[in-house]
Amino acid sequence: MLSVRAALEIVLADVRALGAERVGLPSALGRVLAQPVRATRDVPPFRNSAMDGFAVRAADTATASASAPVELRLLEVVGAGSLPQRPVRAGTATKIMTGSLMPAEADAVVRVEDAEERDEAVRIRVRVQPGTHVREPGEDMRTGQLVLAAGHVLRPADIGLLASLGAAVVRVHRRPEVAIVSTGDELVDLGEPLGPGQIVNSNAYTLAAAVEAAGGVPRVMGIVRDTVDDLAAVFREALTSDLVLSTGGVSMGTFDLVRTTLASLDVEERFWKVAQRPGKPVTFGMRGRVPVFGLPGNPVSSLVCFYVFVQPAIRRMLGLERVHLPTVVARVGETIRTAPGLTEFVRCTLESDGASYVARPTGSQSSGVLRSMSLGQGLLVAPPEVETLTAGTAVRVLRLFEEGTAEPPV
Ligand code: AMP
Ligand code: MG
Repeated sequence: MLSVRAALEIVLADVRALGAERVGLPSALGRVLAQPVRATRDVPPFRNSAMDGFAVRAADTATASASAPVELRLLEVVGAGSLPQRPVRAGTATKIMTGSLMPAEADAVVRVEDAEERDEAVRIRVRVQPGTHVREPGEDMRTGQLVLAAGHVLRPADIGLLASLGAAVVRVHRRPEVAIVSTGDELVDLGEPLGPGQIVNSNAYTLAAAVEAAGGVPRVMGIVRDTVDDLAAVFREALTSDLVLSTGGVSMGTFDLVRTTLASLDVEERFWKVAQRPGKPVTFGMRGRVPVFGLPGNPVSSLVCFYVFVQPAIRRMLGLERVHLPTVVARVGETIRTAPGLTEFVRCTLESDGASYVARPTGSQSSGVLRSMSLGQGLLVAPPEVETLTAGTAVRVLRLFEEGTAEPPV
């Protein structure tokens, strides 16, 4: 049977980044740049003061000290955003604020704390060098400089850089629309009364949330009965999206008709069954550029398959290079028995004592027990060759999300 690694390679071999769209800067947080950004101007655009103080000629302060201050004639006061009117000639100074344009011929700033204003003059108590407390144009970004590479995920600081450059819109990769198909005669929608043998279609909600968290746009297609006709009608419509996910109907049961239906719609199957637990019967295929994942119906199986296979595909479509879940090395908190021959993903808590992590299973690992996902922070990876992980063994844990801490960091 196919290993998890081999299956992932098959998925990523076929999935490509989507094309670009233009979005306004306030909506660009978390989006992935579709092209590099170069500085179109210098930031800051002009020489300015880094301090509230006095713009001077550094040479005038050569002999200044606390015991022998140098007195300079005060020319004017320049606030941030206003224009200095007079050049600072020898023996003079201009009062200046943080961010104020430097007056002509001044080459340094003396801090307010190092001077004393008196009548029309200022007494300077320190010696400054040319350039002291002066911010040069282009100190942050210089015209033409590569500021952000294509494929960069926009964070708040990047939004600020783009704003400083005057970029009101940016070109980012389109977010994939992900169709979610829920198969099963036993399913009813949220809000409907439950008849005998029926359950709520929870997978659609779980996966829509997971798609959104991964950066995709969920398109919930609703519940489909286990007949080839119903399945074909809904899958045909779903295939107009960028990516298709279904749950249920991929195992060995009489009513597991997803694979044959997909085949009849020209979806080329690339694999069925992966040597893993949960989620062994997962299937993957392509119809043109559209990846199609048939996930198993059990709520944990479908979500684990989502994290392991679908999320990397969504991230690739978003234009990201780093598509896989981050992992940490942890010690197993208690001895665990795992499935030989399969990669087992064990739902676990992840606790850190600051230096190292401990992973503990969250209880029943039945693929129907979604609460074990809800209680944990990660998926411990038990490799196929082990049957027992004794307490203290080092393992890799997929981090599903990171929590904050109660302790202040400083
Ligand atoms: P299947 O893969 O279709 O054999 O389904 C496996 C198990 O998952 C069965 O117990 C189903 O009732 C359950 N299941 C299937 N689809 C869903 C769904 N959309 N929401 C919650 N449970 C489901
Ligand atoms: Mg079913």
